[in-house]
Amino acid sequence: MTRKAQGVIRNATVLDPVNGVNRIADLLFDNGRIVELDPSEAIVATHEVDATGLLVVPGIIDIHVHASPWLGGRHAHKMLATAGVTTALEMAGPIDGMIDIAANYGAGLNMACINYVRPEHTVDSTDPDASELSDLLNASLDSGAIGLKLLGGHYPLTPDATAATIRVAAEVGAYVAFHAGTLESGSHIEGMIEACDLAAGNPLHLPHINSYTRGAKRDAMEEGELALSTLLEHPNIWSESYLSPINAASAKCSNGAPGSLTTKVCLERGGYTPDEAGLEKAISDGWALLNVESDARVELAVGPDAVRAWRDAGTNLGVSFAVNPSEPRLRLATARNVDRGFVVDALATDGGGIPRNVIIDMGLSLVRLDAISIEDFVVKSSVTPARILGLTSKGHLGPGADADITIIDVERQRPVASFVGGEPVLCNGRVVGTGTRLITTPQGRKAAVAHGIAGPIVELGTMLPDRKIEAT
Ligand SMILES: [Zn+2]
Repeated sequence: MTRKAQGVIRNATVLDPVNGVNRIADLLFDNGRIVELDPSEAIVATHEVDATGLLVVPGIIDIHVHASPWLGGRHAHKMLATAGVTTALEMAGPIDGMIDIAANYGAGLNMACINYVRPEHTVDSTDPDASELSDLLNASLDSGAIGLKLLGGHYPLTPDATAATIRVAAEVGAYVAFHAGTLESGSHIEGMIEACDLAAGNPLHLPHINSYTRGAKRDAMEEGELALSTLLEHPNIWSESYLSPINAASAKCSNGAPGSLTTKVCLERGGYTPDEAGLEKAISDGWALLNVESDARVELAVGPDAVRAWRDAGTNLGVSFAVNPSEPRLRLATARNVDRGFVVDALATDGGGIPRNVIIDMGLSLVRLDAISIEDFVVKSSVTPARILGLTSKGHLGPGADADITIIDVERQRPVASFVGGEPVLCNGRVVGTGTRLITTPQGRKAAVAHGIAGPIVELGTMLPDRKIEAT
């Protein structure tokens, strides 16, 4: 008998830590779901892949990306797909703009979004009260977001309003993430410790731990150790770090100086004056890496051509600096607690439209160094991110799981192909996916359908799960 199916991946090294699988097998999927390994019937499938010599893992999930008109832009989906990502959390919004990009520039990915709490944009002031925050959360959920993002380090609120946001989200079981920093503390290790206090035991996603350990207050390695011990004291907090050496800031200048404080600090660090002339020289010399849009992606650019592009854009472009010191970055990505779990839960990128989508490339460098195992790599880039998002049918390849699959050339540390819901997204390194599957709560379903991007439903109260309950 011959069975017809959506897809089969043959001769793959299938690695599925949740189900204890690590062997060469054929992987069968149909109707968007995994069916089984090594089917006994002969298969004729719409999508047949010979994955001899390649690694097949549950789709890579990046829980920190930017793909909105405010940050990341229209190339983000394609850049994520190129990097082998199948599911991502857009970490800022605004939700309406994020949805526009998802509907018009999608690459076949599952995407969720949290909507920013931004003074004069989504809230009136830097000190919104609980009822204003509750209204914003409700409107955000209606629009398709799964929760809220506190922009802290960039656009800080008062400590009270920050704590209230986290509490309001916890009350309804919505997602909430907080780039550390309030009106009383900055985006550094002290701000991170304040953030853990302000969570007051409520569930919280604390993003990019590595960016609080750049040596702003103490020695960078000391800050790294302090960050780790702080996380161990707060089991309610889920965290990620990224492996790229570069940060992201704005190159926009007015009145002869960059508007972004981060940009100024980075210029001084490179020995440049913290003004427009200093930034121009830094771009020309190669210290400031301009984020320039080409036809299909955002690329880092330096030198005279980059200076011209920056001038043509009226200085309104993104810019990156290699300011993430390597030692705490590597320590945070690999540190374990006594139970051998990872202290920083996930590998993410803060990428998307910012060109640093390096989960596979740099994550597999850690494997090559024997700093983590290949199973660990899958745990940090798919298994745990799926749990954090409350997506029980992702992060593994057992029968009935979503057919979200990433196929990797481990030798070259590059993705070769990927599937989302059994449909091809990446094929021989080329993006072939279109559209978006918006991950939303039941409350956001209507908005997703209205924009033609309906995707997986995640229930309130299942995201950022309680570790104590999970452990029993
Ligand atoms: Zn970010």
